[in-house]
Amino acid sequence: MKSCREVHRLVIEAQDRKLGFAERLSMRVHLILCATCRRFDAQMDLLRQALRRFPGD
Ligand SMILES: [Zn+2]
Repeated sequence: MKSCREVHRLVIEAQDRKLGFAERLSMRVHLILCATCRRFDAQMDLLRQALRRFPGD
């Protein structure tokens, strides 16, 4: 299983690029099992939505 650190990186990278199937799968599996990363993913999701609502620059 990926470490939380790796999953955090994938969650962040998923905003900028399309993740590969294996990356997406390992991230999803980790998120199912790890509450810490689920929270992190949810926070990043909120941030993404906020940024979309207020497009910068
Ligand atoms: Zn984790």
